[in-house]
Amino acid sequence: MGWFKRLKDGIQTATRNKKEAPEGIWYKCERCRETSTTKELRENFYKCPKCNYHVRIGSHEYFELIFDGNYELLFEELRSTDVLQFTDLKPYPDRLKEAYKKNTVTDAITVAKGKVNRRSLIVAAMDFRFIGGSMGSVVGERIARAIEFCIANRIPLLIISRSGGARMMEAAYSLMQLPKTSGRLTQMARAKVPFFSLMTDPTTGA
Ligand SMILES: [Zn+2]
Repeated sequence: MGWFKRLKDGIQTATRNKKEAPEGIWYKCERCRETSTTKELRENFYKCPKCNYHVRIGSHEYFELIFDGNYELLFEELRSTDVLQFTDLKPYPDRLKEAYKKNTVTDAITVAKGKVNRRSLIVAAMDFRFIGGSMGSVVGERIARAIEFCIANRIPLLIISRSGGARMMEAAYSLMQLPKTSGRLTQMARAKVPFFSLMTDPTTGA
């Protein structure tokens, strides 16, 4: 038995404290606690207009910034499945359903093709809001296909990492993505197609 118990059921963390990115009209800065409008924040490239704090953003916000809103999504047909029939606090399919409902992205990474200064670029951007940006089979496969696409078409690749690590609900299938993606990156280096890695908060490790 715990030392403390809740006086009332249903007391939960306030929604505003849980949110990864601002929604609605107002944005309250995590660092300086000042309030600005989300429009001001967007116009300031998602940095706090008062203190310049870099706010965590999702895949689509990155595409908007990098491609000026003109981009095409790739490999969207790939969707996570519950191979291991995994249940922790809830079954994995329920967790996925919830993640689809809460997000505009269809997994923890989204791949987009667009242009920067009239040159083609593929960006694979992770999204922390989708099950903590965790790497499952779909994340690995989308990265692998993005690399293959870049090699075949000789287009540079930018991967924006924003991940909590492996997706535990996919266990070994998640870990298997690491040799697959790093192997493809070696092929990319041999083909002399440029690859850029951008690590963003809260990613740690190498
Ligand atoms: Zn601020």
